Amino acid sequence: MQAAIYVRVSTDDQARHGFSLAEQREACRARASSLGASTIREFADEGISGSIMDRPGLTSLRGAVRNNQVDLLVVRDPDRLSRKLSHQLLLTEEIEKAGVRLEFLDFDWKDSPEGRLFYSVRGAISEYEREKIRDRMSRGKDQKARQGGIPIGFYNYGYNYFPDTGKVTINDAEAPMVKNIFIWFAYEDIGMNGIARRLNETGIPTRKGRGKWHRNVIRQILRNPVYIGYWNYKDFSIPVPSIVDAETWNKAQQKLKEARRLWAGLSKNDYLLSGIISCSECGNTMTGVYTKWWDKKERRYTCRKNSQGAKNKGCVPAKALPAQVIEDAVWEQIQIWLDDPDALANEVISEEPREEELRQELVRIEEHINNNDKGRGNILDSLALGLIELDAITKNKLADLKRRKERLENRKRELETVLSEAQRHVAGLEELRLISKQILSRLSCLDFDDRKALVRLLVSQVIIAGRSRPGRNGLKDIQITIVAKLPEQIDGSIFSNILR
Ligand SMILES: [Zn+2]
Repeated sequence: MQAAIYVRVSTDDQARHGFSLAEQREACRARASSLGASTIREFADEGISGSIMDRPGLTSLRGAVRNNQVDLLVVRDPDRLSRKLSHQLLLTEEIEKAGVRLEFLDFDWKDSPEGRLFYSVRGAISEYEREKIRDRMSRGKDQKARQGGIPIGFYNYGYNYFPDTGKVTINDAEAPMVKNIFIWFAYEDIGMNGIARRLNETGIPTRKGRGKWHRNVIRQILRNPVYIGYWNYKDFSIPVPSIVDAETWNKAQQKLKEARRLWAGLSKNDYLLSGIISCSECGNTMTGVYTKWWDKKERRYTCRKNSQGAKNKGCVPAKALPAQVIEDAVWEQIQIWLDDPDALANEVISEEPREEELRQELVRIEEHINNNDKGRGNILDSLALGLIELDAITKNKLADLKRRKERLENRKRELETVLSEAQRHVAGLEELRLISKQILSRLSCLDFDDRKALVRLLVSQVIIAGRSRPGRNGLKDIQITIVAKLPEQIDGSIFSNILR
């Protein structure tokens, strides 16, 4: 086996560390011999800085490697080859590509953190090199991209773009909105729908100056790395002026990831609203179906009932609405209620008879029962005193009083139940006030079952009117009515994993 060793010291090394060529030479030769070298050629550079590539020793080594005169090369560490990482990467790649086994004395290639870092950096760099080769071969307008110019079609909200020069500048009117969107999303408890609504409510114009902000637009903005200064065009990343700082951008990406995870776990069998969603046109409950709609298979809710013996077959033509947009809207409402539990309470209480009215009715019922009992007692007394006969009239009267008492007792029990539920609602609302902020801040920790439970805690039903039109998606043509309910006692187990 033909071995080679490469040794190098700079004048600085010698002066400062007392390293000598002799030491390196000896150690490298010993390693080469132990690895079975039959001949050992030596390449040396003395007193030459490792930051330049043009070194006589190194140059002749590379020549020998190219000419297949080397099977094994021993060097003390990558620094001997070059002080510059980029040169180290270039040289080690060149050497290994020539089929030479490369050995370092003081550097463990595979089993040390430094070695692994070196390797992964090298991997990334050679990937980059490949990209460069690829781009060298690609054509025309990519040329502009490589030079850092913007080729075509740079239309990003927040920027001005000048197609003639390829120049991109920050749009002073739009950029602050971009900043706001990121800051709201990253640091507030607000979702993409909420941001869209906020922008629409404040009358901020969209890029085209017409139309409304939609969550999809907000999502595109939040995911676009252009706002931290990288415009990705094909394989190129072209620097542009940034609008958002890296910390905010990262925070927003984190939240996006959580939001994705929130729904990502949903299988075709997971329907957040099953059991509480119904169609306002036909009155059927809607069930989840995983179905092909136009070109895409997705989760939908339908009021169609195909089962044998279904009384109401549902709307004609069949109606199947995208589950995601409806669930997003409900989820958004849940967040609003958690943010303001009293708004939820007001909505529910205006629907229900007032507790006070129920109490008054209960008092009246109890009076009726007393009077009823008195009347019956009077009849029985009169009978006992022989003042009246137990004739048919008296019998009927007694039977009437008995039936009446039963009805009154039933109504009394009903009222008591409603009142004790109302009591529990008050307790539940109280509890909700206490923990809503906590739940809100940790919504992303809830798994699907917990989310389902949370929806059922605050929503009694979801009623859908309208139908989405072919080729159009979203909520434009659908009206969603979300009927609030006050939580009864909050079952701690729902939130056990987040309220700790
Ligand atoms: Zn229907």
